[in-house]
Amino acid sequence: MSAVVDPQIAAKPNGALDEVARRFEVENPATGEAIAHVPELDAAAVAALVDRARAAQPGWAALGFERRGELMRELRRWIVLNRKRVVDTLVAEGGRPPDEVLQTDIWYACDAIGFWSKHAREYLADERIRSSSPFMLGKRIVVRHRPVGVVGVIGPWNYPLVNSFGDAIPALMAGNSVVLKPSEVTPLANVLIGEGVEECGFPADVFLVATGRGETGSALVDNADMIMFTGSTRTGKKIMAQAAERLIPVSLELGGKDPFIVLSDADVERAANVAVQWSMSNSGQICQAVERVYVEEPVHDEFVSKVVEKVGALRQGAASEAGGVDIGAITFPPQIEVVERHVKDAVDKGASVRVGGKRRPGPGRFYEPTVLTGVDHSMEVMTDETFGPVLPIMRVRDADEAVRLANDSRYGLNSAVFTKDLGKGESVARRLDAGNACVNDALINYFAFEAPFGGTGESGLGARHGAQGIRKYCSTQTILVTRFGPKREPTMYPNRAWKSKLFERLMVLMWGRRKRR
Ligand code: NAD
Repeated sequence: MSAVVDPQIAAKPNGALDEVARRFEVENPATGEAIAHVPELDAAAVAALVDRARAAQPGWAALGFERRGELMRELRRWIVLNRKRVVDTLVAEGGRPPDEVLQTDIWYACDAIGFWSKHAREYLADERIRSSSPFMLGKRIVVRHRPVGVVGVIGPWNYPLVNSFGDAIPALMAGNSVVLKPSEVTPLANVLIGEGVEECGFPADVFLVATGRGETGSALVDNADMIMFTGSTRTGKKIMAQAAERLIPVSLELGGKDPFIVLSDADVERAANVAVQWSMSNSGQICQAVERVYVEEPVHDEFVSKVVEKVGALRQGAASEAGGVDIGAITFPPQIEVVERHVKDAVDKGASVRVGGKRRPGPGRFYEPTVLTGVDHSMEVMTDETFGPVLPIMRVRDADEAVRLANDSRYGLNSAVFTKDLGKGESVARRLDAGNACVNDALINYFAFEAPFGGTGESGLGARHGAQGIRKYCSTQTILVTRFGPKREPTMYPNRAWKSKLFERLMVLMWGRRKRR
């Protein structure tokens, strides 16, 4: 494997952090080898980084959309030209196949830079408001979107360039500076991006990387002006409570338990391919992975046999070259125990393992791609986020039962329904309690930057992508300009009985009468 992130830079991100008290080790989950030692920033170091970012922000905002977009596109070129290092870094820290990181993280980051650098200006343009209130006669109203200041981005260990850096892109394009706290499990790709930002000539301190564990993230919540968090529901709740102390806005992209419904008139072959792809990709470590499947009785057996055959053919192992393996490692050490616990709980309660079902011997941390049948909602694998390469399939009587079970969840991120009747598909989709629903597809809506992607229930608050995906990094300012008006308006002092009478009559005239049909 070629050099990943330069160990010197990994040890000293942001140029000036040589005097850190503690460092932590980053390992390659597919080999078990230590690949870097990264600073663990304490609260004072995080506060100092935020101060630097805050000082840099007005100059960055003043550059305007055009120049910020040019620099972002320069960074995109840097990523593409340095793709070998970026791929190798993501593969090494995530234990993932190179094909997958190229098609997800790197593709997403490049596409997102293009999208936000092109559209930020239109999403954040001043809005002229026309009001129907009679009090607004002779007045002009404009709503402005202005950057909040320093955005703290806190990210999870899966997809470091989609969730962590990906969220920094619109924040930067809106004119904020960003302090990014990557996951302690996979911090290196974002440290590498910090190197790219410097090389591309961005103004100093507009994008800084604060490596560390949970305490480092918590210090960022204490200092930043807004928090964009992606991670577990448990941590998301803590962050929201902490942010409430300072009343700063948060956007939360949290866990999921996405349902996948196959109706009896579905294209079963396509449904099986989509289910296998999006339950097994990145070893199932996707917030919107297909985590549970409900299949109508008449096509249940056919669907199961196709899925079992396809999952059984997947090649798993440590990745080196593109095309070598399909499935990589379990990135986060404790996650493999969650996967084992869910499968054991299901089997103990009567489920059948149709393929896979166990951890593979080391080196590295691998769990076999697994299919379970005979599952139900008494089992953790159908109710709690597994975040592993496990696909549990449940037989259902009809669409109503499928919808009821799909909605029997505290999460609501993505969801899918398969049927050849598109009208029926859309009406089932509308009955699903989830922020996103696909008909004859899964997950791929995430790549439509124009459409909001967010969760309901315990899957989060707010959204990325679309207008919401950039306006959340701004505060609004409503400006009212009175262009002409009398010296004294009827609403002004002194109070007089005739004025109140006039208002009363107006109210009755406008809202007190029943409209004639
Ligand atoms: P996690 O909540 O354990 O950690 C996420 C980040 O928060 C890490 O950087 C961690 O260091 C930091 N952190 C931990 N405690 C903190 C605290 N008290 N204050 C501030 N920061 C703190 O999550 P994870 O295990 O890294 O990620 C997996 C989870 O992320 C899964 O539940 C997955 O579904 C979710 N996820 C959601 C999306 C989405 O878009 N909805 C995308 C990817 C992952």
